[in-house]
Amino acid sequence: MNNPVHGDLIDGKAISALVLSEVGAAVSALREQGVHPALAVVLVGDDPASHVYVRNKVLRAEETGIRSIEHRLPAETAQSVLLDLIGQLNADPAINGILVQLPLPAHIDETRVLEAINPAKDVDGFHSSNVGGLSQGRAVLTPCTPAGCMRLLEQTCGTLAGKHAVVIGRSNIVGKPMAALLLQADCTVTVVHSRSIDAPALCRQGDIVIAAVGRPRMINASWLKPSAVVIDVGINRIEEDGKSRLVGDVDFASALPLVSAITPVPGGVGPMTIAMLMSNTVRAARQQHISHTQAVSATEQACLTTS
Ligand code: NDP
Repeated sequence: MNNPVHGDLIDGKAISALVLSEVGAAVSALREQGVHPALAVVLVGDDPASHVYVRNKVLRAEETGIRSIEHRLPAETAQSVLLDLIGQLNADPAINGILVQLPLPAHIDETRVLEAINPAKDVDGFHSSNVGGLSQGRAVLTPCTPAGCMRLLEQTCGTLAGKHAVVIGRSNIVGKPMAALLLQADCTVTVVHSRSIDAPALCRQGDIVIAAVGRPRMINASWLKPSAVVIDVGINRIEEDGKSRLVGDVDFASALPLVSAITPVPGGVGPMTIAMLMSNTVRAARQQHISHTQAVSATEQACLTTS
C-alpha cells in the first residue's frame, strides 16, 4: 500500500502471514544446513490470558517449522527453580530462543528472570544488553510488538525518513523501544505520556501516531491530523451493548474516515507480535549458527598454526 490515501485499513493478518511465510522459508534454509530452530516457552502459573498467548505462540511456531518446547510450571514455583531452568535452556545448544511469558507470579522478580536469559537467546528483546544495543542503533533482538509496528509502517508508508512520529506511551516493552526504532528509521519522534501537557495537540502533529496506552478509545479524531497513519497497539476488553468486545486505544469509528490508514483491533498489531517472535527466533538461530561455525573454524585454524 505504499501511498495510503484515505481511510485505508492496515491488515495485520495479511502482513503477518507474509512475515510468517518469510520465516518458514528461512527455517527451511537453516534446516538444509542442519540447524532446526527451536523456541523454549516458559509459562509459570494459571493466568488464563497467558495460557491463550502461549498456545498461539506454539501454534505459529509449528506452522513455520520452528520446534517449540513448552515448560509449564505451577504458580508456586520458587524463583530459584525458574532460574535453574533458564540456566539449563541457556546451556542447551539445541535451544535458540527462550521466552518467559509475562506476567510472572508476584513472588518472582521479573527483572532478575529476564536478565538471566542469554541475550543471544532473548527473543523477546527485553534483556538490558539488547535494550542498550537498540538505543545505540546496533542490530539486536528487538521487542516483538514495536518490531511488528515498524513492519506495518514500512509496508504502509514505504520510507519513514523525515516523518514526525508521535508515540503515546513510554513503557519498556512498547513505547520506549518503539521510539528508538522510529528514531533509527530517521523519524522525528515525540513521546507522549501521562504527564505530557496537551497530549491531543502534540498528537495532532504526527504524520505517524502509535497508540500504546491501555485506555479504551482514548484517542479520537480530534487528536489526529487528516493525513496521519495510525497504529493502535492497545488491546482493551470492554462490556458494550451487553457484549464483551476488544477495542484499541484509538476510537476507530471516528478516526477511520479522517486518517489515511489505521490498524483495526483486533487484526492489526496483535498478529504481528507473534510473527515477529518467530522472526526473532530464526534470527537468533542463524546468528548462533554463524557464531558456532566461526568458533569451529577459528579452532581449526589455531590447530593448523600450532601443528
Ligand atoms: P503500560 O501500562 O505499561 O504503559 C502505558 C503507557 O501509557 C504509560 O507510559 C503511561 O504513561 C501512558 N499513559 C497512561 N495514561 C495516559 C494518558 N492519559 N495520556 C498519555 N499517556 C498515558 O502499557 P503497555 O505499554 O504494556 O501496553 C499498552 C497497551 O498496548 C495495552 O492496551 C496493552 O494491552 C497493549 N499491548 C498490546 C500488544 C499487542 O501485541 N498488540 C503487546 C503489548 C501491549 P506514564 O509512563 O506516565 O505512566
